[in-house]
Amino acid sequence: MTLVGGGPGAVDLLTLRAWRALQSADVVVADRLGPVEILAELPPHVRVIDVGKEPGRHPVPQERINELLVEHALAGSHVVRLKGGDPFVLGRGGEEVVACVTAGVPVEVVPGITSAVAVPGLAGIPLTHRGVTTGFHVVSGHCAPGVSDPQVTGVTRTSDTSGPLDAAALSCVRDGAATLVVLMGVRSLGAIVAQSLAAGADPATPVAIVENGSTPEQRVTRARLEEAADVAAARGVRSPAVVVIGRVAAEGLLEGSRERRLAGAGV
Ligand code: SAH
Repeated sequence: MTLVGGGPGAVDLLTLRAWRALQSADVVVADRLGPVEILAELPPHVRVIDVGKEPGRHPVPQERINELLVEHALAGSHVVRLKGGDPFVLGRGGEEVVACVTAGVPVEVVPGITSAVAVPGLAGIPLTHRGVTTGFHVVSGHCAPGVSDPQVTGVTRTSDTSGPLDAAALSCVRDGAATLVVLMGVRSLGAIVAQSLAAGADPATPVAIVENGSTPEQRVTRARLEEAADVAAARGVRSPAVVVIGRVAAEGLLEGSRERRLAGAGV
């Protein structure tokens, strides 16, 4: 079995190694996110099994996906498990490896371009920037420890600092210790904002939300932390989106100094 990371969605952000694996596959088990357009271009004999997931809706349970991989591999097929981004970044790729190895199926891993880094990058947002921040922290906004449904606990929770963010993530937002990158964070954005403000984060902290990165529908929404959930709701921000919180998300960060811009404009 070859576990392939397919990148954030654009076909030309597949790696050459990923593309080669797909060309030599007998069976491709694919998700909803990632470079789905490549599936139509595979050699005709390749069987594509769509186990596409949407937030809150898992048409094919993870256990069944694991079984499918094992069944087809044991039947002698070259199975490619194509996942969005990188298979080991909030992608449950590790569980699929364990299922295969446990069943005696050898696994090769082809890393992918993770949306956590690439989607902000495509929107011109560097996760680290000299003089601004030297690190970043990637978390899931979904299924956070102790929070069964972020939407239910939502923005009404103001009494304490519990919420979707763990202590390390919270310190990124509150102290600006590092850029915080939240995947699967659209639904819980209100809870994240409320928790961060309750913990003492600067309400003016820049937030950027990048939807559908690398696709023609890519869209960037910027706001101050305190208004981020309202702005996102007003703009109809939807999953898939990467949320970036921190000074690197400020508008115009990469536009150079004011003096240089004026010089460039011939002023
Ligand atoms: N393994 C994947 C992440 C899986 S979790 C990776 O490394 O990229 C799914 C989440 O990733 C989505 O909810 C969204 O937050 C993010 N995501 C994936 N593709 C994206 C895209 N093209 N644009 C914006 N966000 C994306």
